[in-house]
Amino acid sequence: MTARVALIGSPLRRSHSAVMHNAAFRHFGIDARYEIRPIETGQLPDFFTEVRGEDWLGFQVTTPHKQTSISYVDVIEDAAGVIGAINTGLRGEDGTLVGLNTDSPGFTRSLQQDLGIDLDGATVVVAGAGGAARAVIHACLGAGVTRVHVGNRTPDRARELQGHFADPRLEAGGLDEAFAHALSGADLAVNTTTVGMHQPGVPFDVGLLSDRAAVFDLVYVPEVTELLAAARERGLRAVNGLGMLVAQAAIAFERWTGVPGADAVMWEAIEEQMTDPEPAG
Ligand code: NAP
Repeated sequence: MTARVALIGSPLRRSHSAVMHNAAFRHFGIDARYEIRPIETGQLPDFFTEVRGEDWLGFQVTTPHKQTSISYVDVIEDAAGVIGAINTGLRGEDGTLVGLNTDSPGFTRSLQQDLGIDLDGATVVVAGAGGAARAVIHACLGAGVTRVHVGNRTPDRARELQGHFADPRLEAGGLDEAFAHALSGADLAVNTTTVGMHQPGVPFDVGLLSDRAAVFDLVYVPEVTELLAAARERGLRAVNGLGMLVAQAAIAFERWTGVPGADAVMWEAIEEQMTDPEPAG
């Protein structure tokens, strides 16, 4: 019996996750396949009944279901509970579902591997206050940062996040003067907005950063956003979100299969796909 995993979300167009996971299943000789399942909120109950079936290893969740899906699992791992969102689920042998979040450790792993940055003692600025920002902030606070300043186009959403985490090291507001000031003292500036992906432009001015700062853009399509290009032009270390995408996938893969170290084969698969403008899916 071929085991199954599905990614649920809406809309779901490109299938980077399917490409990575299916390459890893093939590479490690595991009889399983990763499907892309575009579903709307009203279809969640049926999906979460189906995924308890014995042919399922688990699932992944993306926009807009990361928060809603929490209510359909039986056990929520600690980090996912604090973040308030799951991106991965495991099916236990008795059909129970465990919800977890691999975005947060995926961010930390990519930061270490791709930028050589250890967050302990760092000051961080985060642009955006959506689901991805929650995972990044969780990672930062857990890794011992001195301060995180979150700035969002809609300031109330950033303040809501501040209330949610209730940590004195977390400051929040709009994309305003305080945000600009925080950028000037940051060791790391992170873009968790969709700016650069859905719309052109930059989420913040890299000219405000100091020479020691690094830039992490969670966007990975296009591979080089305007933000990354501007940061590199200034001579700053800067990476896109591909490393995080691969890292979160490898962590999920290990949880489903018990097989560690899928990162390399996943990287190879995704790099091939990034050079193909019209991936087959
Ligand atoms: P989300 O919950 O929809 O949040 C989107 C954020 O972008 C909000 O803070 C929103 O601000 C902001 N935003 C949108 N348009 C803007 C504009 N024109 N100017 C300024 N801010 C704007 O999305 P998400 O799930 O957090 O994902 C955010 C990004 O992270 C996406 O590009 C996604 O692909 C990426 N991501 C990458 C990885 C990875 O592994 N690399 C993982 C997760 C997410 P408002 O609150 O004002 O609307």
